[in-house]
Amino acid sequence: MRTWRRVILKAARPAAACAAWTSAARAAWTMASAVALLVLGAMSARAEIPDRALDAQLAQLDRFGYNEPDKAAQQLRALLADPAHAAHRLHIDYTLGRNAVQAGRPDDVRRTAAELEAQPGGRPLSRMLLAEFQDRQGQTGRSGEMAQLALDELSPACPAGATTTIPPGCDARVMIQALRLVARAQGARGEYAFAETSLRRALSLAQALQDHSLSGTMMGSLAVNSQVRDEPAAAQQWMAQAWQLAQGDVSAMSRAKMVESMVSSRRGDRSAQLAALEDALRLAEQSGGRRDVALLQNNLLDAYIHTDQSAKAVQLARLALPVVQFYNDQTVERTLRHNLSVALVQQRQFEPARREIARVLEMAQGDFDPVRRALQLRELGEAYAKVGQPKEALRLYHEERALSADTARRNRESSLQQLRLKYDSEAKQRDLELLRREQTLQDRELGNRRLAQYVGVGLAALLGLSLILIGVMLARVRDANRKLKAKQSLLRAQSERDPLTDLANRRHFLAVMDRHAKDMFTGALLMIDIDHFKHVNDRHGHAAGDAVIIEVSRRIAQAVRAEDLVVRWGGEEFLVFARNVAPDQLQLLAERILFIVGGEPVPTAAGPLRVTCSIGFAHFPLPPAQLALHWEQAVNWADMALYTAKSQGRNRARGIVTVEAGDAQALIQIEADFDAACSSERVQLQTLLGPASPEAPEAAA
Ligand code: GH3
Ligand code: MG
Ligand code: MG
Repeated sequence: MRTWRRVILKAARPAAACAAWTSAARAAWTMASAVALLVLGAMSARAEIPDRALDAQLAQLDRFGYNEPDKAAQQLRALLADPAHAAHRLHIDYTLGRNAVQAGRPDDVRRTAAELEAQPGGRPLSRMLLAEFQDRQGQTGRSGEMAQLALDELSPACPAGATTTIPPGCDARVMIQALRLVARAQGARGEYAFAETSLRRALSLAQALQDHSLSGTMMGSLAVNSQVRDEPAAAQQWMAQAWQLAQGDVSAMSRAKMVESMVSSRRGDRSAQLAALEDALRLAEQSGGRRDVALLQNNLLDAYIHTDQSAKAVQLARLALPVVQFYNDQTVERTLRHNLSVALVQQRQFEPARREIARVLEMAQGDFDPVRRALQLRELGEAYAKVGQPKEALRLYHEERALSADTARRNRESSLQQLRLKYDSEAKQRDLELLRREQTLQDRELGNRRLAQYVGVGLAALLGLSLILIGVMLARVRDANRKLKAKQSLLRAQSERDPLTDLANRRHFLAVMDRHAKDMFTGALLMIDIDHFKHVNDRHGHAAGDAVIIEVSRRIAQAVRAEDLVVRWGGEEFLVFARNVAPDQLQLLAERILFIVGGEPVPTAAGPLRVTCSIGFAHFPLPPAQLALHWEQAVNWADMALYTAKSQGRNRARGIVTVEAGDAQALIQIEADFDAACSSERVQLQTLLGPASPEAPEAAA
């Protein structure tokens, strides 16, 4: 208990001392709270992904901005100014950035990217903006790398496989855009298997968003990718799905037709390509998208150069180029210029063609797109060959072969790696499952062991506790026993003591006799009785009588040796048992008692009182025959001697000197008539007189 209290006190003391710097602590707490709020704010900023309505609105403006960037930007700025959308500024800003990309405003793009980067949670959006911009610049590879960085940041919050729901923290739309750019870069490197994985994931997210337009776009990309992978059936299937989904949306239908033309082109079906393109162009013109039209014109141009309609192609290129330049769409411009260069070669206008070729290379700015480049090289080589320029054609052919071989190798490797990844992930899953099971077993075993330990410790504690308890109980019992014994002995002592005189009482004498003189009594006995004691009580009161008894007992105890036992035998009767006293010494002892009791008067409240006593004494066994007798008989003999002392006048002691008795029977006869035995002198007694009184003793008066 005391330990506990000390611990509590120790803890309480510094707490009291703390009161001094409570204000400092409070300030620290306030600061901590502020920091926590900031952090929470930052976290919530990260979590603020536009709700369904705003997301749809932003997506619509994003699409609208492709053909009408300025109008879209205006509406986006209005959204940005609307305080209702304050929490979504990040995504509105990002959409504005995408608008700047579509409009080919590099400065705005960079500024917006920097602003996004500076905001909490804005980094992946900033990266995506830059990736879109690079893609639009025709730097497909770099764009893919940047998009991959954004993807790495966004991906953990989004489901990896096929999904039907978007988790709260998943920025699905930005994820789709990142995946699209990553897939495009993968495709450009010939990693079609990777591209398919990325596109499928993007499609799954678009479907979960229930965005038909985006889903259709992904299906289109998957169709082209499948065709490139030489999986025409899959390509047809994707196309059919995209077409199905596009129904009722003219621009989506136009895009689906464009995809069909691309697939046809890859298949080498020029007439199907042309037909699809013309359909797409018609639909784009219906939807009123100037830019879509220019894009389709560019694609048509590609079809024309492959169907030897170079004059038409050059004409169409001249028509589309300003529009494409207006939108500052360098990717399309690059393709358009390439197509134009092929058409020019076909037209044998070698110098303008070389300028266009140089321009295309320059626009690539070192961004190496081997697939596209190989295609361009082949197209150019074929064009040169057709117009009788074998030297140039051969050079381009060799360049194209090297690149294509490289692309084929990449495709092979990506397929293999994809397979290996799949296998690895399956193997890993198996390993993980095994590991998990092993872990479960180990956990269980550990749990069991821990339980056993607990039980063991519990039992040990219980045992220890029991032992302690038993110990404590034993100690208590022992203590109680000891106390009981002490009490008992005290009680016994008390019960064997006379409360008034503190002398041994008759019970004690019995106990002593029981121990030491069971059969035969030896030693001396002196029976002492105060003379005329009744008078003391009668004249001076009971209290004075008590005082006399107390003083007489004190005097008797003083007269005997320490080893002698003085017993208060009755009211004013005392018995002295002197175990080892010689007969002549006994006589002296009797005399000593007579004189010490009867000497000085006893001081009492009623004044000093002179008292005397009478004594009967004997030494056992009784001489001369040394006949053995029981202690009760011995007491009786002393009492009989006392009786003679009283009858002879008191204040004297009478001791038995000899007894004429041959056996026990003779002794019993004497006891029966002691007076007669004394008269016949069969019993001889000696008499010792007490102190002569200067006046009549108190008791006798
Ligand atoms: P004797 O000389 O023959 O012995 O005469 P006695 O008066 O002493 O006669 P006895 O021995 O018969 O009287 C004893 C009296 O002692 C009787 C009783 O009232 C008294 N007495 C006994 N015990 C006590 C006691 O504890 N205190 C007091 N004050 N008186 C007691
Ligand atoms: Mg008496
Ligand atoms: Mg008496």
